[in-house]
Amino acid sequence: MFEKINLPYYYSALDPYIDERTVEIHYTRHHQGYVDKLNSAIEDGQPELFEKTLVEILQNTDIINEDVKTAVVNNAAQVFNHDFYWESLVPNPDEAPTGKLLEAMEEAFGSFEDFKDEFNNKAASQFGSGWVWLSLNSDNNLIIETTSNADNPILHGRIPLLTVDVWEHSYYLTYQNRRADYIKSIWNIIDWFEVGQRFEKSVK
Ligand code: MN
Repeated sequence: MFEKINLPYYYSALDPYIDERTVEIHYTRHHQGYVDKLNSAIEDGQPELFEKTLVEILQNTDIINEDVKTAVVNNAAQVFNHDFYWESLVPNPDEAPTGKLLEAMEEAFGSFEDFKDEFNNKAASQFGSGWVWLSLNSDNNLIIETTSNADNPILHGRIPLLTVDVWEHSYYLTYQNRRADYIKSIWNIIDWFEVGQRFEKSVK
């Protein structure tokens, strides 16, 4: 059976940028809901998938039986996306990336500020529910991309380094319809140390 990650901080730890109630509902209900649906689709349709990791499933969707493929892919992606989101955040982080990640960001986007501007713009213009990502593409370049609903970079052969959930449930209680304000304030809680480690582990 798949499980979600243990949240690496208290529900209240990201306040005031993401309020306690939002983190609790998001983690215990939305995230858990995807875990439950994934487990039930696999149990009913293709139990041998329990031997795979989430990433193995997302990298090899051709091994999934057609009758459960949509449910397994969507829910496996949403479990992964939420695990990855929580682990992209931390209370009291470094304010900016450093080292090799910062150099690569300056090369790809001009500066860290330019990176944030482009990320903010893409987050704001994503139509409907989805995710914003910093990813490494197959040419080993940093890109900012948005995906809709459950979709994620792994399904397209790219390596995710950072994600922000832009489904309304991730910000509605504090920000209502003001997604841009949520994205602007999330820069206060991005775990740049973790993102830097992901980059150094993945870059060729
Ligand atoms: Mn979510």
